[in-house]
Amino acid sequence: MADDVDMANDAMLLQLEQQIAARQPAQGGAVAEDCEDCGEVIPEGRRLAMAGRGCTRCIECQGRHDRKRAVIYG
Ligand SMILES: [Zn+2]
Repeated sequence: MADDVDMANDAMLLQLEQQIAARQPAQGGAVAEDCEDCGEVIPEGRRLAMAGRGCTRCIECQGRHDRKRAVIYG
């Protein structure tokens, strides 16, 4: 049961990552294996989704970073 839920969450997260990635312009940035903010391993699905765009934070830290940026730049 728990595994089914986990898999569904992973699939949803991956789908979300791909939707987010599709909205972002290609930046050609590096894709890190660990989050530069918290040091957690960035899931392979996220790294694959962000390949060619750049990804140096985990989903949580990127979300915090984006919200912070949104406040700064409106
Ligand atoms: Zn993080």
